[in-house]
Amino acid sequence: MRPLPPLKLTSIDGNLESVAEVLGNPKSLYDDGWMASCPAHDDRNPSLSLNIGRDRDSILVYCHAGCDRMDVFNAVRRSVAEAGLFLEIAHSKQDAS
Ligand SMILES: [Zn+2]
Repeated sequence: MRPLPPLKLTSIDGNLESVAEVLGNPKSLYDDGWMASCPAHDDRNPSLSLNIGRDRDSILVYCHAGCDRMDVFNAVRRSVAEAGLFLEIAHSKQDAS
């Protein structure tokens, strides 16, 4: 099964650290990505990866524990919206079909 592309959150400042902190258990990665607890399942070992998109104004989210990508996307969107971090949220171009 081919992995689907990650979903994309369009952020006002691309601040991954603050998003990871909102989700809990933030862990910095070597490549300026972050791991955090996945809000779509009971996640004690952070399995959600957060990366800045190529356009530098979006955040890619992906749950390595295998959560449905729409569940992850909606749960992250809800969490960050409650924290007031985002003005706009968009799907990545791959999802536009
Ligand atoms: Zn998950």
